[in-house]
Amino acid sequence: MKDNKRKKLEANTRNLLELLGEDPKREGLMNTPKRVAKAWDFLTKGYTENLDDLINNAIFEGESKDMVIVKNIEFYSLCEHHMIPFYGKAHIGYIPDGKIIGLSKLARITDLFAQRLQVQERLTNQIAQCLQDVLNPRGVAVVLEGKHFCMLSRGVQKQNSIATSSSMLGIFREKESTRNEFLKLIQMNNI
Ligand code: ZN
Repeated sequence: MKDNKRKKLEANTRNLLELLGEDPKREGLMNTPKRVAKAWDFLTKGYTENLDDLINNAIFEGESKDMVIVKNIEFYSLCEHHMIPFYGKAHIGYIPDGKIIGLSKLARITDLFAQRLQVQERLTNQIAQCLQDVLNPRGVAVVLEGKHFCMLSRGVQKQNSIATSSSMLGIFREKESTRNEFLKLIQMNNI
């Protein structure tokens, strides 16, 4: 993180602490602005990461025309309306058309878009659209299940609510049997 950015984040955190009625100079809070600056830098690193660097030549020629799924990819994001976390699991599938991607890159792409201020719907679409753009596959399916702290700990305080969002592109949108195969596979018991 650039020095200038770090200093501003620290100064703003001290202001916030004062506004909340705290004393930023008391022992427990002395280093809090530093930690907060570091934490925010990490939680929003999706703004500065570059997609090409991240994919880093992990796209390969592949003959397979069968569905590839990686499910239960945990993500941590920030609700753009309250700047507090939402987190959950992403399930991603695609059907290749000549190109495949290293499986771990699906998790990296999820992080790239999650580590920004987001709404879950947009996060879901961005992951799907990104895979569509880099692989040009027959279709992409993304389902996200999220728990939002703005609903859990404030506002309506619903502890068990889960928000589900999906984005279906190509054959997953057009063909019900393909979509259903994906939805069935992501519900299967874990190993
Ligand atoms: Zn919110």
